[in-house]
Amino acid sequence: MKLKECVKDAQKIMIAGHVAPDGDCVGSAIAVYRYLKKHCPEKEVIAYLESLPEVYEFLDPDRTIITNVVPTEAQDLFIVVDASSHDRLGDALSCFKEAKSTIVVDHHVSNIGYGKVNIIEPDASSACEVIAKLMDEKEIDKDIAEALYTGMITDSGGFRYESVCRETMEIAGMLMSKGIDHSWISDRCLSGRTYIQAQLLGRALLESMLMMDGKCIITTVTQNMLSLYGAKEEDTEGIVEQLRVTRGVEVAVFIRETGDQQYKVSLRSNRYADVSKIATYYEGGGHKKAAGFSMRGDLHDVINNIMNQISLQIQ
Ligand code: 5GP
Ligand code: MN
Repeated sequence: MKLKECVKDAQKIMIAGHVAPDGDCVGSAIAVYRYLKKHCPEKEVIAYLESLPEVYEFLDPDRTIITNVVPTEAQDLFIVVDASSHDRLGDALSCFKEAKSTIVVDHHVSNIGYGKVNIIEPDASSACEVIAKLMDEKEIDKDIAEALYTGMITDSGGFRYESVCRETMEIAGMLMSKGIDHSWISDRCLSGRTYIQAQLLGRALLESMLMMDGKCIITTVTQNMLSLYGAKEEDTEGIVEQLRVTRGVEVAVFIRETGDQQYKVSLRSNRYADVSKIATYYEGGGHKKAAGFSMRGDLHDVINNIMNQISLQIQ
């Protein structure tokens, strides 16, 4: 099915992604928004995200696309992008429940298909890759291509993850042919960091600990550390990736304090460990090599608890 067909009976359409949106989520939401605005101009379209991280503001330079205000009126169609379960919708969940129809477009293996229509491709490297296939190539302009390309490179680690295949590169090539500045987008989204992010990363690496014979690496960023460097939660993105590439490591664990005795845990694996099993055990989700969940309790208890589950994956 193509996107145009999916939306044909709807007038009021809302697009939303997951809480703490990443590049794939932002790229997906903006690409779908731009596509609908261009090819179905008679429809009323809202693109809701909890926030728009500064690094992706170039996709919505006039701040006219992404809103963080939840609409009060019921929608004909709610399009979810990149959210593996409905509890990842945050404040948009009420709109999802009230909408006359729902479509879930995703690539998470843990997604059980909670929409009326589900377009889920667990083998796809990003939700943007799935979305690109829902559009006709000739309908994709430079602005749509830019958003899709951003999602593809961020969720594939710059086309480095196992999920990348020939089709991924073919779609990326097609997007490049639309005239996007792909080199600039890669630098901006993959390598570029603010000075604050560099300081926080340095601190997180400095305080990391190797465990399990060097097969597991773990570090924590507390609220105190964030305020010390004047950092926001989104400034921690990328830390887990730097932990993962430490030689000899199989599982990388990044713990971020989100509130009093509340933690968000990000997991990455390199070869054989299935971190989605660990995340699912704690009611989170994700992929075999990248997953996450939230947890409450004393930090030391949290770490001990997680370590038991990790040791089951690292044999
Ligand atoms: P990250 O560590 O970058 O936050 O997330 C890695 C992957 O795990 C992403 O694909 C993300 O969707 C998934 N993930 C992270 N946290 C959660 C969570 O709390 N619940 C679910 N269902 N998935 C999560
Ligand atoms: Mn994604």
